[in-house]
Amino acid sequence: MNYNAYFTDALSRLRSERRYRVFADLERLAGRFPHAVWHSPKGPRNVVIWCSNDYLGMGQHPKVVGAMVETATRMGTGAGGTRNIAGTNHPLVELERELADLHGKEAALVFTSGYVSNETGISTLAKLMPNCLILSDALNHNSMIEGVRQAHCEKQIFRHNDTAHLEELLAAAAPERPKLVAFESLYSMDGDIAPVHRICDLAERYGAMTYVDEVHAVGMYGPRGGGIAEREGAAQRIDVIEATLAKAFGCIGGYIAGTSALIDAVRSYAPGFIFTTALPPAVCAAATAAIRHLKASQWERERHQDRAARTKAVLAAAGLPVMTNPTHIVPLFVGNPERCKAASDLLLSDHGIYIQPINYPTVPKGAERLRITPSPYHDDALIDRLAEALLEVWQKLDLPLKERALAAE
Ligand SMILES: *Cc1c(COP(=O)(O)O)cnc(C)c1O
Repeated sequence: MNYNAYFTDALSRLRSERRYRVFADLERLAGRFPHAVWHSPKGPRNVVIWCSNDYLGMGQHPKVVGAMVETATRMGTGAGGTRNIAGTNHPLVELERELADLHGKEAALVFTSGYVSNETGISTLAKLMPNCLILSDALNHNSMIEGVRQAHCEKQIFRHNDTAHLEELLAAAAPERPKLVAFESLYSMDGDIAPVHRICDLAERYGAMTYVDEVHAVGMYGPRGGGIAEREGAAQRIDVIEATLAKAFGCIGGYIAGTSALIDAVRSYAPGFIFTTALPPAVCAAATAAIRHLKASQWERERHQDRAARTKAVLAAAGLPVMTNPTHIVPLFVGNPERCKAASDLLLSDHGIYIQPINYPTVPKGAERLRITPSPYHDDALIDRLAEALLEVWQKLDLPLKERALAAE
């Protein structure tokens, strides 16, 4: 048997569908973000990163790096095992307290990633509620979809952010049946926001539990970085808040926050928690430093919004097809996988600008785009250079431009 043929065939299928992905070999430079070194086939080159989910640059913040280095020096590198085997490192206890406080919840539980927290969190919660019905937004992240799938209970998908459809499904379900409504507060590909209060109204009316993924909102929204639910004053109405330590907090790991009983039950039953080694103490200390900093500091949040707004304005004024939304995500519509990849390649090779193409299955076919994520450290000059580079690429690939805003001409 030629077992390797299975794998080469699978790869050819991806290539023929234009879905084969290549990752750039990058070296981040702490203190110089968003500047980085690209280890190109022709050797190292300086580039500017425009697609990082280290949204606020906290991955290079001196307090965060300092906490990681100091803790690793003092406590060593690994956690030494699962929490069932090796107990809990003190920095992880502190991190969970910090997270519970951030969301105004009784308790929080940390996992090795946001992916795992959704996958094992949703499936475990649903399994603990006999005959549970999960109502899941159509655009939920793959980690939530996997959690729903592994729950092995009935699920219904409601149209994206469509509360009328959600209400229809809730009303049709037996009133005494446990129901879990799972959604994201901020969808990271289109940059749109869920109607959090309206979903909570329905959940209350029909006796459902709410579970929200705030991965793309924590640190960035709300007066203390508690996310969209905090900003809208809805955190108390949400039963479970899930998020990551890997995006705006610049580290790695994920978590859920909720009542003590709920968190204790997931701690006690979730395989994706029980059977895997805990986060290293240095990572926990670094995440705690990032969360604490962003609870108190408004600078990063304000500057982040300002940079995103300016990027949108400059690109739109140049006639580039910015997809409008009320958040920090700047999607540029392309609508074709080859040209999306070609645009990304040209930006990197000709302009030293790194923006990963977003193709199917991350977005639907025909909705391919460049997803731009400005940070507090993308200054005016970088934004202007980005617009010029994009215009050149758009012209080279014969991609459509909109009517330019002819303000002063
Ligand atoms: C990135 C992401 C996750 C997974 O978080 P990680 O910490 O990167 O594993 C979960 N949900 C959404 C919406 C995401 O975009």
